[in-house]
Amino acid sequence: MAPRARQLFATTPWIGNNCTLPNQETKPPPTPWSGQLTEFFQDYRTLDDIHRYIDLLAQQHPNLVTLREIGRSWQGRPLKVLEITSPSGNVAEKPCIFLEGGIHSREWIATSTVLYIAGSLMQDASADVQSMLQHFLFTLLVPVNPDGYVYSWEVNRMWRKTRSNRSNYLCHGAVAGVDANRNWGVTFGQTNDAPYELQLHNPCSEFFIGPEAFSEPETKAASEYMKERQQNWRSNSKAGAGYVAAFIDYHSYGEAMLPPWAYTAETPADPDGSYQTSLTSFINEAFYNTSGRTFNAGADVFLPNPGTGPDWAYGFLGIRATMTIELEGHSSCLPATQIQNVGKEQFAGVKALAAFIRQHGGEPSAQVGIFARGNGSTALYLVVILVVFASLVAMRSWFNWFSTSRRDYHPESAIIGMSRDAAPSCLA
Ligand SMILES: [Zn+2]
Repeated sequence: MAPRARQLFATTPWIGNNCTLPNQETKPPPTPWSGQLTEFFQDYRTLDDIHRYIDLLAQQHPNLVTLREIGRSWQGRPLKVLEITSPSGNVAEKPCIFLEGGIHSREWIATSTVLYIAGSLMQDASADVQSMLQHFLFTLLVPVNPDGYVYSWEVNRMWRKTRSNRSNYLCHGAVAGVDANRNWGVTFGQTNDAPYELQLHNPCSEFFIGPEAFSEPETKAASEYMKERQQNWRSNSKAGAGYVAAFIDYHSYGEAMLPPWAYTAETPADPDGSYQTSLTSFINEAFYNTSGRTFNAGADVFLPNPGTGPDWAYGFLGIRATMTIELEGHSSCLPATQIQNVGKEQFAGVKALAAFIRQHGGEPSAQVGIFARGNGSTALYLVVILVVFASLVAMRSWFNWFSTSRRDYHPESAIIGMSRDAAPSCLA
């Protein structure tokens, strides 16, 4: 049976299996990373070690990776993306696959998995990975929520939200933060579930959506990056080269793939809906061949949630290959011994994603978002209808003038729109 998200969060123990605070006596402080790439995924890592790892990868593979700061978190930490691709071909024109993890800070496996994918993209010399790098630009943002991540290490292992601190949105006088995965600008705050709606607007709730869409600098920066890329290449209402072909947001837990729509938990109409269903089946095959597991897949696996990243990516930018992936486990605290298994499985999923896009196309949706045909063609239809209507009116006026110039004018027939000959002779 598929997990139901809201219930899961309600029953998650505050401190449970492998979830003791790093600075408590029950668990020794983390061993700092040795600096050896091969040892990085033996444990979960602090934000400092993550930045060291990213910097080292960039130093060792300067031809494959560009590090770019796309913004700053609420507390001023850099939001760095890794842009990974082979130098061959026109990099600016390659379709982009955007992967992010750690928007919910306590989901450490999501952060480690995106880092694992980054390492694999740079270190895997196999022909299929090289081919993927020639064709795509991979952009990885991790962790999306660095302030929350640090807080989950240092103070509260189960911290989920950002650390934005607004005086009019406090929780019992303390920092409330915002659920950054309810903070995106499509379907923001839209729900028919009255008790849930109260939670969405309660600063103490784990689902607090914030004062407005994109109030959080972390979601703002990620969305601006994708938007700029998508729109820079827009011409004549069509996506040009360099569009964003995929957006995956990694979370834990539940072993699920959740394509849009999250806010209704309903699959979009075809052809986009069947494209997304085929994609999750294709990725599931790759998971099964790697780990022996398959994930629940579909918009309805979780209860409806508004304002998520994938709903925005699909609803605004028209990215069809978009979803939330909920990784393994029965809590947000997966043992570190699972990091590499999950990483391998998810890297296989990324390879399947890329293969699917090459096979079925990754251009933005023609039915939803800024490239939807409806946007352009509706205007065109309106123009055509107006021209036809104006022509008919002109013809009718000419006919009326021609007729009245020869016969007595019957105003009633003009009012009710009947031809003079068919009109009653007298409407007394
Ligand atoms: Zn999450």
